[in-house]
Amino acid sequence: MYDVLKRHWGYDDFLPGQREAVETVMRGRDSLVIFPTGGGKSLTYQLPGVCRPGVAVVVSPLIALMIDQVEGLRANGIAAATMNSASELAEYVDTRRDLREGKLDLLYLSPERLMADDMVELLREARVSFFAIDEAHCISHWGHDFRPGYRALAGLRARFPEIPIHACTATATEAVRADIVQTLGLHDPAILVGGFDRPNLTYRVRRRTRLIDQIGEVLARHTGEGGIIYCIRKAEVDELCAKLVSLGHKAVPYHAGMTADERRKSQQAFSNETADVVVATVAFGMGIDRSNVRYVLHAGMPKSVEHYLQEAGRAGRDGEPAECVLLYSGQDPMVWRTILGEPQSDAERMAHRKLAEMYDVCRSLTCRHRYFVTYFGDAYPHDGCNACDVCLGENEVLGDAVTVARKILACVARIQQQRSGARGGAPEGCGYGARHVAEVLKGSKAGRVAQMGHDRLSTFGLLAEYAVDDIADWIDQLVGTGHLMRLGEWRTLGLTASGTALMRGEGTVALSRAVKTRPAQPAVDDTPSESLFQSLRALRRDLAAQRGVPPYVIFSDATLRDLARARPLTPTAFRAVKGVGDTKTRTLADMFIAVIASHAYDGVRA
Ligand code: ADP
Repeated sequence: MYDVLKRHWGYDDFLPGQREAVETVMRGRDSLVIFPTGGGKSLTYQLPGVCRPGVAVVVSPLIALMIDQVEGLRANGIAAATMNSASELAEYVDTRRDLREGKLDLLYLSPERLMADDMVELLREARVSFFAIDEAHCISHWGHDFRPGYRALAGLRARFPEIPIHACTATATEAVRADIVQTLGLHDPAILVGGFDRPNLTYRVRRRTRLIDQIGEVLARHTGEGGIIYCIRKAEVDELCAKLVSLGHKAVPYHAGMTADERRKSQQAFSNETADVVVATVAFGMGIDRSNVRYVLHAGMPKSVEHYLQEAGRAGRDGEPAECVLLYSGQDPMVWRTILGEPQSDAERMAHRKLAEMYDVCRSLTCRHRYFVTYFGDAYPHDGCNACDVCLGENEVLGDAVTVARKILACVARIQQQRSGARGGAPEGCGYGARHVAEVLKGSKAGRVAQMGHDRLSTFGLLAEYAVDDIADWIDQLVGTGHLMRLGEWRTLGLTASGTALMRGEGTVALSRAVKTRPAQPAVDDTPSESLFQSLRALRRDLAAQRGVPPYVIFSDATLRDLARARPLTPTAFRAVKGVGDTKTRTLADMFIAVIASHAYDGVRA
């Protein structure tokens, strides 16, 4: 096993949990592997596929994903193939022949293709070592990526009763897990749950105050690097993408309203690194195999913690540091409630509960790593993570939150009273939004404050010592806690019953304030290695373009970084680097060594 691992993948060791999973498959026991994104699930079936006699059949939901995986395996000198609707006839004929002659280690198929009668026939003649079902949560209605085609896999066990099944997913909820085991008819499966922590990710949850500026700050930390920005609605995607392009960013859009062709173009531009940023709805997902995504930014709150982890988890799959920033506002839950509609069924009520849970996460001030790990029922053994906004001390808990809240609530009440006085009869709400109320509390005569006579209110200037942005932010937080509500088309503020109660001194509330972003990892001043890394990246991009494969098929960022640090100048030294196997030493060493050698000379001169 270790020999094959080094020879083909260039790794000396397994990632946590991988060895156990590989051994289970090697022994021919059914299994369900639940590792986080980036946990190394592919290897748990690819390595046994190489080691076990016969062909391993891998089921994967997307053709693009299958093609990329096959390219990656071939680049490592492994006999892999796929048969799908995009295959050329000649390729199809070759694969059938290789399969019959027992020359394949891995065969990738869609579920529909696998279950087709002629394929079942063909596989009965070939020697199948085991079935691997990737993205197995697609089988379940409870999952977030249900695919009807996956349901057909319910018949797999009956067709091939003797052949072990190995299912993989990153989704860990009980309902999904049980559904997978039951639908596939897994027999006494080994259930292997990986560590769910992603220590290389830094999580930041922030209130959305000035979206474009906030996005700009994140992008500035990742110049020239790959990232994904998720929006709730398609219209926001188009608008934000156009804005970023106008600011000079290499951004492309992705959402379900685009044609299949347009989406493929965006996906490819991102995959081959001609685009740096994809601005997308949740429709952009499983097909992404780019492992060097350095940040995932949510411009709005996702609708569940599972969605969040799935999407944010696309950052840093190569194990190198990456950042996940979630920008939310008190309005996001309302937007989602409108999209979801009134809950009718149990599943819909569940969706609303998950939405509320996600919003709780946004407002909570406990370690993010701890929350996400324990969400999956795992223990989190560390005191602090030093890799989230909370542990990095980027949020300040407001000491006198209740006093501040009462002043805000009183101000809304005064404006409301003045309005009802002017109009006669009690109006609904105060008729103004957060910004205006914040200006009044600040004691500023900006906007319509003086014009409306709000500078004569007893609450004018009550929070003069704070910034208008902070006050507006707390108003938003009070909407989130249910003390204030937003009314009508203009989202004007009004007091709720609990807001009135708090104003009168009943109950309590916590408010926070975001302070400056602190760099999680002290920036290493390693300029020569950084410039070599960029040159290696350029070489990788050229080679990938020549060969028509995505860059990560050549090498991962992690391997390029190791090359830039180790600077091997001989094939033997080259092969010693993590992620370099025999095939890549043979096919790529010369070109990479040439670039490294030219930089070594630069270094000496410097
Ligand atoms: P998943 O499918 O679980 O999201 P992948 O199979 O894509 O994860 O693997 C994630 C990354 O980890 C890939 O870049 C892969 O090359 C790398 N990787 C996998 N196994 C190992 C290993 N044993 N040592 C080092 N890196 C590994």
